[in-house]
Amino acid sequence: MTPKDRGRVLISGASIAGPALAFWLDRFGYQVTVVERASGPRKGGYAVDLRGPAMEVVLRMGIVPHLKQSHVNVEKVTFLDRYGTAAGVIRPQAVSGGVVGRDLEVPRTALMETVLGAMGAGVEFIYNESIAAIEQDADSAHVTFASGATRTFDLVIGADGVNSTTRKLTIDPAAECLKYLGYCYVGFSIPNVFDVWNENVSWNIPGKAAVLFSTSDRSLANAFLEFHTDNPPYDRMRNDRDVCTLFRQTFAGYGWEVPRLLDLMEQASDLFYDGTTYVDLQNWSQGRVALVGDAAYGPSFFTGQGGSLAMVGAYVLAVELLKSVSHAAAFASYEQTMRPFVLANRALIEPSIAFLHPRTQAEIDHRNDEINQPVIAVGEVGQEAHVSIELPDHRYYV
Ligand SMILES: Cc1cc2nc3c(=O)[nH]c(=O)nc-3n(C[C@H](O)[C@H](O)[C@H](O)COP(=O)(O)OP(=O)(O)OC[C@H]3O[C@@H](n4cnc5c(N)ncnc54)[C@H](O)[C@@H]3O)c2cc1C
Repeated sequence: MTPKDRGRVLISGASIAGPALAFWLDRFGYQVTVVERASGPRKGGYAVDLRGPAMEVVLRMGIVPHLKQSHVNVEKVTFLDRYGTAAGVIRPQAVSGGVVGRDLEVPRTALMETVLGAMGAGVEFIYNESIAAIEQDADSAHVTFASGATRTFDLVIGADGVNSTTRKLTIDPAAECLKYLGYCYVGFSIPNVFDVWNENVSWNIPGKAAVLFSTSDRSLANAFLEFHTDNPPYDRMRNDRDVCTLFRQTFAGYGWEVPRLLDLMEQASDLFYDGTTYVDLQNWSQGRVALVGDAAYGPSFFTGQGGSLAMVGAYVLAVELLKSVSHAAAFASYEQTMRPFVLANRALIEPSIAFLHPRTQAEIDHRNDEINQPVIAVGEVGQEAHVSIELPDHRYYV
């Protein structure tokens, strides 16, 4: 086989899952095009955890030394009450199940940029563009882009996140797979005026939280606000200005540093907001189109596993395409291998809400009792869910 004659693949989305898949497919001899709606690689987002099999994937990509330079070394999580008084302090691994010294926590932007930087030069990137229509026949997928341009590919992969357009155009037009989890959030970068370093700080009252996250750059931090509601006001979350108004009104009158965070939100240029949902989809592919990462099985940030599932899913899909006799067989084995892993991680949602995103004073009190126990277990081997997949190995097939 000559280089690049395994087929033409269009990937929609250039955040985590998209570039990871492009990296592997390019290496395996596919001709890869990535289309991204934003005008360039999107900055922002707090750190993404790489655990267990996701660490094995980045090891096989050869990017661990680079990622280590951006590792956010969070040594403690401090919980505050409504007045800003510390209610308890724990090591983050006691909550996340991560393993000290093995797992990495890397800013989303750094992970994306590292994967993009490690990519072969042959991958084509088209920014400011998105898929408008996909027509499939026995041999190809014919794509019309938002600009009106048309192109033909062998396969189309949606790596375009929780609100995936690729998914809407094919498998789930009515977005029935999106399951709302009761919270709306906004995240943004701030100058580190609070001097949080190697630490996350979480202010909680029932159904509301304001969180500060350390980054790997001491001059910057990430901030996050969330509130519980059964009826997400999506009509007030259409643009940055409306989101700022919504959160300012929802968080008006609270103490601690909430007023300063609201001011900083208005000065930030990388707001990231939505209702919190997970994706529950019966099939991850239809014909020549398949989904990867959040588009297929976004587990919500409550699990802290979105980044790991995206990296692992991209690898499994690429290896299945490499080794299978047809794309249909590859998509089927990809789903068979990944689905139990996804379901195990999805089961982390509810315990995480009760502990990190308490909705009632009773949940806050229970959480504070637990964190004030003299010894709270710190994982040595990690959460079972984090490691509940056996990775295929591309080295047997190249
Ligand atoms: C700017 C940003 C900030 C984030 N911040 C956080 C955070 O703070 N905490 C957290 O837990 N998770 C965050 N995430 C989500 C996190 O990256 C994912 O949960 C996880 O890493 C899986 O990544 P993914 O590549 O599957 O999806 P995503 O990271 O959501 O990436 C989807 C990509 O597809 C692009 N896209 C969307 N629609 C189209 C379209 N129609 N055509 C072309 N491209 C499209 C998006 O611009 C994006 O680049 C953030 C994502 C982004 C894009």
